[in-house]
Amino acid sequence: MSAPESVVIIGSGPAAWTAAIYAARANLRPLVFEGEPMGTELPGGQLMLTTDVENFPGFPAALSGPELMERMKAQAVHHGARVVSERVKAVACGDRPFVITPNYSPAIQAHAVIVATGAAAKWIGLPNEMRLAQSGGGVSACAVCDGAMPAYRNKRLAVVGGGDTAMEETMYLTKFASEVVVIHRRDSFRASKVMAKRVLEHPKVRVLWNTRVTDVLGDDAITGLALERVDSGETSTLEVGGLFVAIGHTPNTAFLNGQLATTPHGYIHVESWRTATSVEGIFAAGDVIDEYYRQAITSAGTGCMAALEAERWLAHHGLGDA
Ligand code: NAP
Repeated sequence: MSAPESVVIIGSGPAAWTAAIYAARANLRPLVFEGEPMGTELPGGQLMLTTDVENFPGFPAALSGPELMERMKAQAVHHGARVVSERVKAVACGDRPFVITPNYSPAIQAHAVIVATGAAAKWIGLPNEMRLAQSGGGVSACAVCDGAMPAYRNKRLAVVGGGDTAMEETMYLTKFASEVVVIHRRDSFRASKVMAKRVLEHPKVRVLWNTRVTDVLGDDAITGLALERVDSGETSTLEVGGLFVAIGHTPNTAFLNGQLATTPHGYIHVESWRTATSVEGIFAAGDVIDEYYRQAITSAGTGCMAALEAERWLAHHGLGDA
């Protein structure tokens, strides 16, 4: 095996590239495993499914999610980060240095690791849902990211889900929509009482209980939804100008095989305002630690924190190039 890397970064969203920029500028020559296309997942993470990013500071005219990721990556490479377009399938967290096994290339060693693998939004799983989410055709898994766009203004919008995320997205969308229709597969919400009450009492909100979405209608942009009552099987269509899927997220931690402590919902556990994980020398940043904010800017912020913490940890232990 070749000499151990100082720091390996796993991921390719805002947290990973920001960590790479900081680590590269600290002369750590980080090696980034950016992943590879697999199913609906692309290197770059959830922003690859976001059309206009209007809330990332510094870009008053907005830019696309993929363009933002391309620019962050270019900045990391410019400063000396090296990139491997491959997924990591295992990290031996008990070894020193850590052993990182990619999908195809031989295993490598690293003194420090930054895990920034993000979280994947859950989708209903309909072909047209994915097609229109990828093309910016009015299907989204993040109201805060996309809801304020002109295309959604004064339209009837649908939210699928009955948890706290669905309630939050619904309340956010009431600012722009003419009506928000919440579509839930059961007859009661899973969300906390206070958040559910706010939604149920809002004059712009209507709830379709015991209902599931069976198809997303529209060619270039969404025009409506095909619906089915779960109890009676009765079918109908609903005209909408946007669909927000809010049925939860899954943090991308499977490759860690339970070696790092997690929160009750499976996110990697870190202390407040820190990115150190339960294993010394392994740091985590971005949506894989965040079940609350889930924004590109917060993700980038924790990526910066992880690189600074890794650099200080390496220097403290006299490891790598630090
Ligand atoms: P969640 O609590 O797991 O709720 C997911 C919702 O989506 C459930 O209502 C579920 O229906 C529905 N669902 C799941 N799969 C579906 C499918 N295939 N088709 C249709 N509906 C489906 O997820 P979450 O709302 O993202 O919340 C995750 C955690 O974060 C929760 O603990 C939540 O309290 C917390 N959170 C807190 C806040 C806050 O406090 N401000 C905000 C957001 C999230 P069923 O109910 O039938 O299972």
